[in-house]
Amino acid sequence: MRTVRTVQGLRAVLEPARHDGLAIGLVPTMGALHEGHLSLIRHARRQCDRVVVSLFVNPSQFNERADLERYPRSEHRDAELAEQAGADILFAPTVEEVYPSGFATAVEVLGVTERLEGAARGSEHFRGVATVVTKLLCMALPDVAYFGQKDAQQVVVIRRLVADLNLPVQIEALPTVREPDGLAMSSRNALLDPHERSRALALPAALEAAVGLTAAGESSAQAILTAAREAMRPFAVEAEYLALVDPETLEPLEVLSGAGLLALAARIGAVRLIDNVLLQAVSPTHPAPQSQGKAISTCSV
Ligand code: AMP
Repeated sequence: MRTVRTVQGLRAVLEPARHDGLAIGLVPTMGALHEGHLSLIRHARRQCDRVVVSLFVNPSQFNERADLERYPRSEHRDAELAEQAGADILFAPTVEEVYPSGFATAVEVLGVTERLEGAARGSEHFRGVATVVTKLLCMALPDVAYFGQKDAQQVVVIRRLVADLNLPVQIEALPTVREPDGLAMSSRNALLDPHERSRALALPAALEAAVGLTAAGESSAQAILTAAREAMRPFAVEAEYLALVDPETLEPLEVLSGAGLLALAARIGAVRLIDNVLLQAVSPTHPAPQSQGKAISTCSV
């Protein structure tokens, strides 16, 4: 695996593959790699001839300075893990390379950015995400770019900008990888102390309650959200937001009649975590069979 730090270097190293018509896959990350990231890289490895992993902690998407400052960074370890998972190129640019002096452009997606994370973190968050993802797509010019369903709203925003800007790239969204106890893997989990780590189980508990009630035939959003909120109570964690929305438009649902996205964010001490699950309505007369195991799958690598 080669590490490159400049756009020129990235273009040069990809040129032969592009010339030969080989498929290039891009996995954008902010580093501190875990199994969630590695599942994306392995998937890209199976589908593409060349796999680029980008590692860039994008300052413009952090709405809290403290969150940016304590964001875990471990490039050496990340390089080893990315290589083991099958990456060919690690693209790790500096902030100056991505935002050189005089940089003055932003990509702003309207509508789908205004709810959930956009409402909680302010418009600069998704402006930062949309701008950096557009830039990474233009830098690497991949055939396919891979994202995690863990950041469900981010996937919706990226699909929107790719369609609206006619970017010639296929977007793949892959399932959330979880710890055995159900907590979604996240670089921020490393910042939790042991007590906070156990309280963080409030998030998967909320999702499991919603999945269980939906499988039993409940379709009222209010009932599903109440059950999810109740499931968090024993952990002494309150959701910053907890919403049942249309998975494509992110508009709130009152009744679950098809697919719905249950999304939530919560602060555990100083660490802010997000999670979500796709719910599928079932007919009340034909409830889905109760599964023997957990309602949300714990691992999908
Ligand atoms: P990040 O480094 O947090 O910006 O994440 C980089 C990519 O990995 C994004 O597309 C995330 O959605 C994805 N990702 C993060 N956590 C997980 C997870 N637990 N399972 C699957 N994908 C994930």
